[in-house]
Amino acid sequence: MMDFKASYLGLYEQGLLKKTADDLRNKTLHCSLCPRECGVDRSQGKDGICESGLLPVVSSWSPHFGEERPLVGRKGSGTIFFTHCNLSCIFCQNYDISHLGYGREVTHRDLALMMMSLQGRGCHNINFVSPTHMAYAIVEALVTAVPMGLKVPLVYNTGGYDSVDTLKLLKGVFDIYMPDFKYADADKAFKLSGIKNYPDVAWSAITEMYQQVGDLEIDAAGVARKGLLVRHLVLPNNLAGTRGVVDLLAGFSKSTYLNIMDQYRPEYRARECMDLRRRVTLQEFDEACSYAKGAGMTRVCM
Ligand code: SF4
Repeated sequence: MMDFKASYLGLYEQGLLKKTADDLRNKTLHCSLCPRECGVDRSQGKDGICESGLLPVVSSWSPHFGEERPLVGRKGSGTIFFTHCNLSCIFCQNYDISHLGYGREVTHRDLALMMMSLQGRGCHNINFVSPTHMAYAIVEALVTAVPMGLKVPLVYNTGGYDSVDTLKLLKGVFDIYMPDFKYADADKAFKLSGIKNYPDVAWSAITEMYQQVGDLEIDAAGVARKGLLVRHLVLPNNLAGTRGVVDLLAGFSKSTYLNIMDQYRPEYRARECMDLRRRVTLQEFDEACSYAKGAGMTRVCM
């Protein structure tokens, strides 16, 4: 895929990237950037569930070698971790960043310079972790980064609770979407992440993402260029409803790149739920993977 061109370059050349940033900024003034729809004015404070204003807050940024192999390649995925989150998972593995707010506020230009630095270090992509509440800031920074020479694809690495309206505004910005699909059951989503409608919203978001970028495309060097990767963290005692998640994905595209993850460990407030107080057993994980393969999923990564 030698002739690959990141899709945001096309938006920039058409003069549409700044308009996209402005449209996203408008959504933050009575905030409906994500399905929480807090309705707060983020130019005046940080009163929404994500506790975010307009400037990005970054906890860390560096080449990352622990992501999915097609993102990592030889030189790593250029990961930028945003502070805060629009989810409220009681078992969050990054709770110090997502809930305790560890991080530093930076300017949009700073964010652009981080992208350029990661590209300069050879990273195959810029991987925004928890981008949902920072969608405006990302595109605003991109307007600055493109004239600096940014050209690697962008990854939208999200918990999956995303607004279809916002995703439609983002069309053409991200070449790679990497959503979690955390739960199949709304009651469990409410109990564990504080969101009643997670399964329906996440499924609508994933469907929109797929329509924008399709199945994952990997070049001759094994590096992802474009497409959808879905992550699913197996939880103990079937709290994630893995079979329901797999059934939806398999009914949609059996070629979906699906990473079934086993690294759950009790963190943060997990002990408040009896069923979350242990790791996943080997048998639980094997059953999840076997079920996905049995459903005909052809790109199950474990
Ligand atoms: S992005 Fe933040 S402030 Fe805006 S709707 Fe979502 S949680 Fe609320």
